[in-house]
Amino acid sequence: MIENKEKSRNPQKVPISVNLRVNTECNYRCRFCFGKHKRLKTTPNDSRILEIPGLLADAGCEKLTFEGGEPLLHLCINDLVKTAKSAGLRTGLITNGSRMTFRQLCELKDHLDIITISVDSPYERVEKCLGRGFGNHIKNAVQISEWAYGLGIELKVNSVVTKLNWKDDLTALLRIMRPQHYKALQVLPAKGENDKWFERLRITKQQFNTFVKRHRVLESEGIRILAENNDDMTDSYIMMLPDGRFFDYHGGRYNYSTKSIFDIGVRNAFGTYRWDYQKFCRRDALYFKEKSEHRSGEVISTGKSKMSSKSASRIQSHADKTRTNQGFKARAQAAAAKNSNK
Ligand code: SF4
Repeated sequence: MIENKEKSRNPQKVPISVNLRVNTECNYRCRFCFGKHKRLKTTPNDSRILEIPGLLADAGCEKLTFEGGEPLLHLCINDLVKTAKSAGLRTGLITNGSRMTFRQLCELKDHLDIITISVDSPYERVEKCLGRGFGNHIKNAVQISEWAYGLGIELKVNSVVTKLNWKDDLTALLRIMRPQHYKALQVLPAKGENDKWFERLRITKQQFNTFVKRHRVLESEGIRILAENNDDMTDSYIMMLPDGRFFDYHGGRYNYSTKSIFDIGVRNAFGTYRWDYQKFCRRDALYFKEKSEHRSGEVISTGKSKMSSKSASRIQSHADKTRTNQGFKARAQAAAAKNSNK
């Protein structure tokens, strides 16, 4: 306890927000993938993974995000999220969404604060070319966004921006999904992970900025826009393998600590970690400390994210065209009707 207080005085010494890469397996084959850790000779695994949330919380960590690979393929993912929540952590899950069921999301409802779905393009053919799914990825993602809305789980959408999608416009799709946060990531080179495809997918910083600018319009509609180019992503994340080893992204590659928190404790393991606190803050990684505005299915027409009649009719028209998301369409109609009565 005393140790926690000391640490909280110096946030630079605390792994305040950790991304735990629970596995390296995935059912998708994204060409740009930098989450499979091909350079590791053995799949990092440890039955003590369930101890990690408690150890991190004791060391002053405040947020734990579960990612992969595809974290929903991990047998203990529900237990991990629940354990982290009972340890007092804010919890996040980054998933491609293909394995998510309504039942599972209901089970996680009281334990999961934020779910992040990766969607890179409004076109299934582009997602398929990128290796993101097999033709129904966007439909799944929209479905999950609707579930998250209904259950009051905060939603974030991530896009990896590449040569195939930097000209795409996701604003209409994002108006349907209504995430609280939208993050664009410039495709990242990771030695030994995506060398084969990176050159074919790489984009310039300028192209990336053009993509981001196109989506900034959503800020006025209550969606927080985050953008990370390759430099922003370097040294700015605190990442951990399931065997309790921290690893960083630096010099265009992952670098793995040889010591695990199970061997030398979180404090010592983090003491040697390469991490730029200023960059971490600059990429808005501490947003979760602000008061979170949880939204339920009704919030579409209330508070900060109140929908304008223009947005409502745009959503209606998109829903009509795509013939998806009937629940959203109904809410959009209700919001439009409410607005027109004012
Ligand atoms: S969904 Fe994620 S982990 Fe799976 S292949 Fe794509 S980028 Fe990699």
